[in-house]
Amino acid sequence: MMTDLDSEPLSSWKDKALFTPGPLTTSRTVKQAMLRDVGSRDTAFIQIIREIRSGLLQVASLSPDAYTAVLMQGSGTFGLESVVGSVIPPDGHLLVAVNGAYGRRLVRMAEILRIRVSTVERPENEPIPPEVVEQALASNERMTHVAIVHCETTSGVMNDVEAVGAVVRRFGRTFLVDAMSSFGAVPVDWAAAGVDFLVSSSNKCIEGVPGFAFVLARKAALLAARGWARSLALDLVAQYEGLERDGQFRFTPPTHALLAFHQALRELAQEGGPAARGARYERNRRIIAEGMRAMGFRSYLREEVQGPIISSFFYPDHPAFEFEPFYQALSRRGYLIYPGKVTQANCFRIGHIGRLEEADFRGLLLAIRDVLHEIGVPVPLPVSQQTM
Ligand SMILES: *Cc1c(COP(=O)(O)O)cnc(C)c1O
Repeated sequence: MMTDLDSEPLSSWKDKALFTPGPLTTSRTVKQAMLRDVGSRDTAFIQIIREIRSGLLQVASLSPDAYTAVLMQGSGTFGLESVVGSVIPPDGHLLVAVNGAYGRRLVRMAEILRIRVSTVERPENEPIPPEVVEQALASNERMTHVAIVHCETTSGVMNDVEAVGAVVRRFGRTFLVDAMSSFGAVPVDWAAAGVDFLVSSSNKCIEGVPGFAFVLARKAALLAARGWARSLALDLVAQYEGLERDGQFRFTPPTHALLAFHQALRELAQEGGPAARGARYERNRRIIAEGMRAMGFRSYLREEVQGPIISSFFYPDHPAFEFEPFYQALSRRGYLIYPGKVTQANCFRIGHIGRLEEADFRGLLLAIRDVLHEIGVPVPLPVSQQTM
């Protein structure tokens, strides 16, 4: 059976540009790194794993004396579930700061694992104020762990993990951070934030391909959790101990994704590290923000709380606009945007991460203008009275 992907010869193919939160557009060299079949016990492959683990600590500027990087098969959610399911004791109590779908996913995870869970919540277009975490911890001595999402990819809003982390540390609780969509581009000040466990995955800002998640853990906190895992495959401590013992994954590793990631880490260093990468994303975000504003689109977020990872825009307030035909027409032109995820407003999203350059973003803006014309929506867009 043939699909669209079969119709082009490999030597001349050109993939669509992915303006999504992952999987992302990757460099040709990252893809080429996967053209190898390696044995999971091969010494060269074990060295790749070792270099990935130490490379991740370097990206975060963490000392290997106090911190470690644990790799876990699966998508980012598997990495989060390995942390939530492994590091909270049987009588533990998790507080989740929720301002989007990924915060809600952490709550659901805890419920399914039968872990006691509470929330503090804020609207999806606002960061979590540290004071609400402080009030929650002050009112309940039993809360042992606090979790927050660094960049809520639902909207693109940034949470201040340093300020929230300072509160968590003052109360002596364990701090978990979902930095899935930000790690490698938006640095975290680990000393200020006092993070114990931070989770990200292979296919976000490191610009690798999907296949595994990774957990940066404070070793003392990790080792204190031995025996608490609620899953065999997602046992974070056992995975760490396996990696330390013989350098291998306990179960089949995603060899190709690891080869790609090893190359992606090199390319991150070549670009100048997380600060340079974050700066590229921010430059491209601004091109989109200005270009979309010029067409009359309205951003879902205020500029002050907007991060460099992904932006949300309200649907144009015009009867001829429907998301699906808009999306499909952009896709035919080689540009893949992303549906919205916020619950209180009709939005679509444009991601700024992945191996995309200024020309890709300028091309997307031209394509959006062209498609609006095609579907009969005037540009500039009619001024909307809609506020939410
Ligand atoms: C992408 C993402 C995840 C994980 O999603 P997967 O589909 O499991 O990879 C979790 N949290 C945030 C904030 C994300 O952006």
